[in-house]
Amino acid sequence: MYISFQKHLATQLKEIEEAGLYKKERIIVSPQGAEIELDTGQKVLNFCANNYLGLSNNRQLIEAAKAALDDHGYGMSSVRFICGTSDLHKELESRIARFFHTEDTILYAACFDANGGVFEPLLTSEDAIISDALNHASIIDGVRLCKAQRYRYENADMEDLETQLQLAQEQRFRLIVTDGVFSMDGNIAPLDKIVELANRYNAMVLVDESHSAGVVGETGRGVTELYGLMGKVELITGTLGKAFGGAIGGFTTGKKEIIELLRQRSRPYLFSNSIPPLVAAAGIKMISMMTETNELQDRLHGNAEYFISRMTNLGFDIKPTKSAICAVMLYDAKLSQEFAAKLLDEGIYVIGFYYPVVPKGQARIRVQISAAHEKEHLYKAVNSFAKIGRELGVIK
Ligand SMILES: *Cc1c(COP(=O)(O)O)cnc(C)c1O
Repeated sequence: MYISFQKHLATQLKEIEEAGLYKKERIIVSPQGAEIELDTGQKVLNFCANNYLGLSNNRQLIEAAKAALDDHGYGMSSVRFICGTSDLHKELESRIARFFHTEDTILYAACFDANGGVFEPLLTSEDAIISDALNHASIIDGVRLCKAQRYRYENADMEDLETQLQLAQEQRFRLIVTDGVFSMDGNIAPLDKIVELANRYNAMVLVDESHSAGVVGETGRGVTELYGLMGKVELITGTLGKAFGGAIGGFTTGKKEIIELLRQRSRPYLFSNSIPPLVAAAGIKMISMMTETNELQDRLHGNAEYFISRMTNLGFDIKPTKSAICAVMLYDAKLSQEFAAKLLDEGIYVIGFYYPVVPKGQARIRVQISAAHEKEHLYKAVNSFAKIGRELGVIK
């Protein structure tokens, strides 16, 4: 059997390669950070990590994780409900709830699991999920695992959301689900209008704050903070793998009855280990740091404003953004790859995205700003963009 299957796989791999979609991985030999070293020996400035607050290699988190390794050991060897719950899990859950002004939190090994396990236990075929067309893959998969009726609205399109809500009036319960920040454009879900429509059409709201937690809002509490809606949506999902330390872990936080039911029925929670105690300890430290001072969020916001205004002044076409994601529009797929390759030669690591990751004719370079970027890193990136932009005729 395997000989024919092997041929079948080889054909597919060749097709992926020929379509120019083969994903190669660059190998980093240093810790993750603003400056990284690749296995080629090249040292580059990193502008493509989700390391928004620069916590991936933060001293205080490392110390907290090391201390937990010493006093809580390495692994739990169990799922949460058998014997895998550490006091550190419980503390992190309540800290996350306090941070977002919600009632309770349930941890998962990843946000992919949080989203994979949130819909199916809560909703049945009598209910409706109304989902933004650009929601993350994990939301799409989570919705697929649930028997609820599915409605899809165009990205952040409130007229379309209203139409879908009208169509969904037949169902018993309605849940609107949206990313807080959409990862390719960096645009923010219009949560004020979403909540208004939810109230008018009797629906609940789930926001995935993976790209917005730690980033968006004055104190980094995400889009619910930005719109003055903290504690006003039923559910938030998020990751510890981006701004919140960058290691691993996900969570769902919100109404206490919902979280209680998820602990009873959510399959990725029941049948898979949670994060190890050392990661929970670093998470607790991370929330403490973010509660005590706003230094990192302020730095991130300052850096993002600086970069975007310099790039705009140079004549680059930047998608409107309030997040730390800056999409430099180039439109042409080949140009986006050439531009990114030349930037790497200059020591600037960014990724060019093109169809099917973004719509046809919408190729771009996505730049992700971090609190870890020093002013000189930002100067260098802007100057390199200017140089290559002129060389390739993108700007004058
Ligand atoms: C990154 C991301 C996830 C997945 O997070 P993990 O914790 O890495 O599984 C889920 N949702 C959104 C919107 C994301 O951006």
